[in-house]
Amino acid sequence: MLVIEAKLKGTQEQYRKLDEAIRTGQFIRNTCLRYWEDNNGVTRNDLQKLCSVLTKNKETPWTRKLNSQARQAHADRAWVSIQRFYENCRLGKPGKKGYPKYKKFSRSVEYKNSGWKLSSDRRQITFTDGFEAGTMDLWSSRDLVWYCEKQISRVRVIRHADGYYAQFLVDWDRREEHEFQGKMIGIDLGLKEFYTDSEGNTVENPRYLRKSERRLKMLQRRVSKKLIKEKKQSHRYHKARQALAKQHLKVSRQRGDKARKDALALVNSNDLIVYEDLKIRNMVKNHHLAKSISDASWYQFIQWLKYFSKVHGVIVIAVPPHNTTVDCSCCGAKVKKTLSTRTHRCDRCGTVLDRDYNAAKNILAKGFKLLAQYLNSTVGHTESDLKKVKAQGETDLWLNNGDALALSRLNELRTKISWESPAIPRRG
Ligand SMILES: [Zn+2]
Repeated sequence: MLVIEAKLKGTQEQYRKLDEAIRTGQFIRNTCLRYWEDNNGVTRNDLQKLCSVLTKNKETPWTRKLNSQARQAHADRAWVSIQRFYENCRLGKPGKKGYPKYKKFSRSVEYKNSGWKLSSDRRQITFTDGFEAGTMDLWSSRDLVWYCEKQISRVRVIRHADGYYAQFLVDWDRREEHEFQGKMIGIDLGLKEFYTDSEGNTVENPRYLRKSERRLKMLQRRVSKKLIKEKKQSHRYHKARQALAKQHLKVSRQRGDKARKDALALVNSNDLIVYEDLKIRNMVKNHHLAKSISDASWYQFIQWLKYFSKVHGVIVIAVPPHNTTVDCSCCGAKVKKTLSTRTHRCDRCGTVLDRDYNAAKNILAKGFKLLAQYLNSTVGHTESDLKKVKAQGETDLWLNNGDALALSRLNELRTKISWESPAIPRRG
């Protein structure tokens, strides 16, 4: 899968029609949700049927304007969130189970294979459903010309703070040549540095949000000043609100780009990458750390890491985050530290290392153990088995870093990993 995003250039009237389509999609999704709440044993099929009922209903004739496949796509959106909720309950996830919510401010509408048409030079798109948004120019740095229309399985129209965009989902399996060099690395995601690897290298932490914070605050003040309570808001208020939204958008794009580039660079120069499976969601709840963590965009980084590792055929292992900062990477002794202790000093073996460097080494060692278990216990198993191995106890069977036999087996494993098409991380 591949996503190509293009800005839509049209008139205000055309944008207004796209807004109408977005609202209709939202209405269909919410109606499906209501139907599920009000009835027992609702299936996906019931929701699909509900779409055609809606178009025949005298009170909602405008739902007919939205392309039929698009209507179904929005019924599916409701279905997906219902399924996710059931799945969370089934797995017994702690905390909120993600009970489906009604959408108030949807920003996108989804088309499948119909309701739109590309011009022969692929520079224009025409929306052909009942909203009659018509033909609009596509502005994109990437060319749609290389893909045939049949490969495009979905078009999503999104309203951002700086305009309207079309995202084309292209069925295309991306695979890159990756020269195997036997390089293995562990990384410790941190707040001081974005990450520190097991060779002591660091990648700086982009504090885009911090840098832009003053500007954000200033823009936020402007919005608050112009807010009139219990009255229709002024033109000046909406201008200010838009400027604020644009600044937020800019920051989130910067974050996303940096996460993608860092992940690609790491995958390009390694054959095995081990990282700590942090419960980022739980950590963001901790307010002292929250801002820095979301700022550091670890989540996006990990998503891209998984994506690129599949594209390049590189192995990525997540290890449980226990004791990685406490253990001495040299002798295994436990060295207690507070959050502010920046240096690891081991009394038993005399090792002195940067705190994060020590942790990265431990993380890599943990990854080795998991991989050893996997190699010793199984032949030709898939990635999901690696996850099962994670849950089991540890063995000490591995092999020194750089061991020739280990490397050849690692390469073998690399070719065995199933080539499912990776999902592309969503933007900001
Ligand atoms: Zn030690």
